[in-house]
This record gives sequence, C-alpha cells and structure tokens, in this order.
Amino acid sequence: MKARMLAKAGAYLVRATRLRCPVCGRTPIFPRVRTIRRPVDWFMPFDGCPRCGYAFEREPGYFLMAVWALNCGFASVLGLVIYLGLEMNFDLPMRVTIPAVLVPVALFNVLFARHAKAYFIALDHLFDPHERGGGDNRGNQPIDPHPEPPAPGLSRPIPTEPCETTPAVR
Ligand SMILES: [Zn+2]
Repeated sequence: MKARMLAKAGAYLVRATRLRCPVCGRTPIFPRVRTIRRPVDWFMPFDGCPRCGYAFEREPGYFLMAVWALNCGFASVLGLVIYLGLEMNFDLPMRVTIPAVLVPVALFNVLFARHAKAYFIALDHLFDPHERGGGDNRGNQPIDPHPEPPAPGLSRPIPTEPCETTPAVR
C-alpha cells in the first residue's frame, strides 16, 4: 500500500513538474507560452483535461491555497535565504539589501505561479482523488479508495415500515 502510494506520488510529482494533467499525465494544464495574449493567461489553467475529463479547478477559489501557501511560502523561504546570505557575507546598506531580496522574490513568484498550481492539483488528487463525473461544481466526483463495508448483520437492507401518519388537524 505504501509503495503504491509512493509510486503514485512520484508520478504526480513528475506530471506536475511538467505542468501536465495529474490523471493522464499528457495534457498541459496551462496554455503554451507562445499562445498567451494577456499577462493573466500566464496564471490561468485550462478548465480541464479534454483527454480524461478531469477538471483542474474543482471549485471557485480552489487555487487560493496554491497561491498563498505554496507560491508565497516558497518565495518567503527564498527571500529569507537571500537575505541571510547577503547579511552574513556582505556589509551592504539597507537600500541595496531590500531590492536585492525583493526583486528575485517577485520574479520567483511570477515564474513559480504555474508550478504552485500544478503541485497543488497533484497533492489534492493524491490525497483526495476525484474523477470526471459531475459530482462537484466543475465536473469531478470523489473516488472513494476505501468504501465502507456494510456493518455485520446489516448486509440486507433494513426493512422500512411506513411512517405513522399524523392525521391532519382540520
Ligand atoms: Zn488528463
């Protein structure tokens, strides 16, 4: 079980690094750079995979965690590393240190935005797998990896009796 999960995680990691659909690993999640017309297109994934039907954005606001936790998280670590490196090795004035830290962090935020979303989709699909089918807002439905077996003694459906009807008060 653990080996299967690790193999899956590895496959999803590779697919996300290549910005591909986590399910089939073939369809790109984002438009190609040369087809981008507006800056916002860089950050916007396609609605879903035409090959396997997997919806990339499961619900409105789905990518908030990708942007705030993954993208900003890694950017903060990068900023910290650059700052500490400069502080420990050079005696720079603050007016030089601040742009030397902020410019690479801002660039990283833009360049890593697509991968942050792709890694988030992969993580979500690893721990909460969905498939096409119309179960949520955008067309995915949960795949339950451990369907609950019926409780012992309850393998037959419980006979239901008609509810007592209360006579209507007139
Ligand atoms: Zn796909």
